[in-house]
Amino acid sequence: RPARIRKPDWIRVKAPVSKGYEETRGLMRSLGLNTVCEEAACPNIGECWTKKHATVMILGDVCTRACAFCNVKTGMPRKVDASEPGHVAEAAAKLGLEHIVITSVDRDDLPDGGASQFVKVIEALRAATPNTTIEILTPDFRGKMRAAVEAIMAAGPDVYNHNLETVPRLYPTIRPGARYYASLRLLEEVKHHDPRVFTKSGVMLGLGEERLEVHQVMDDMRSAGIDFLTMGQYLQPTPKHAPVIDFVTPQAFAAYGAIARAKGFLQVAASPLTRSSYHAGEDFAEMRAA
Ligand code: SF4
Ligand code: SF4
Repeated sequence: RPARIRKPDWIRVKAPVSKGYEETRGLMRSLGLNTVCEEAACPNIGECWTKKHATVMILGDVCTRACAFCNVKTGMPRKVDASEPGHVAEAAAKLGLEHIVITSVDRDDLPDGGASQFVKVIEALRAATPNTTIEILTPDFRGKMRAAVEAIMAAGPDVYNHNLETVPRLYPTIRPGARYYASLRLLEEVKHHDPRVFTKSGVMLGLGEERLEVHQVMDDMRSAGIDFLTMGQYLQPTPKHAPVIDFVTPQAFAAYGAIARAKGFLQVAASPLTRSSYHAGEDFAEMRAA
């Protein structure tokens, strides 16, 4: 196991102190909502919350999986909260969101993997904030994927995101509960269901992947019809998590970005601090206007 390496200068994180940040935090607390911004210890929280961009994490804050890169708690999850869809819609309305990203923990314990809660959240948002575009970032719904995709697609999200996270060779150590090709198939299924829905996926770099393996992932994604790609630097949330093998330079991220665009992705975000939901609204609006 390599020793921890020092963060380079380009991973600079601003302290989260602003009026917008406090307001976003207060609203999430008062509605009892969890955010991946906090649970995943996202480095962009100061910037995003100042702009009132938060990614809501539904279905509780305890996950049934334990990925080696992820800061979310694992264990016995709580009961599904029936008031959550209404609270998400209220948060979107109060924050005045033009675009909302909804994600969840994995709920392998639920018969539908949590798909019906995604449906209820989408329906509540459509009723309360009909002009808000909806991006969902879902689990892989292992063993229940077809039914889950069918139900969620009937509710009509605008963007369907599911992250591949890393190259297939690193799945056994980094994402042991998941299968690379099952995740790809999920996104293929979404596209097949409704080609008008944009599909999106992302990978973290710095986990020991090789350049050509990353290019292969891009090719696999394009073969599955994936429209948007995000790539960011993996940061170790605590010493118990997978170590950072290397810090990919901003120049190397830019080179990956150029290759991805050449491979035909409609939208690419590739920089050290890019996260799945970072600038998601701005990027989506820009892409639709183009
Ligand atoms: Fe939250 Fe995403 Fe922004 Fe991170 S990048 S703070 S997860 S909205
Ligand atoms: Fe974290 Fe998602 Fe893995 Fe659960 S399934 S541990 S929330 S990355």
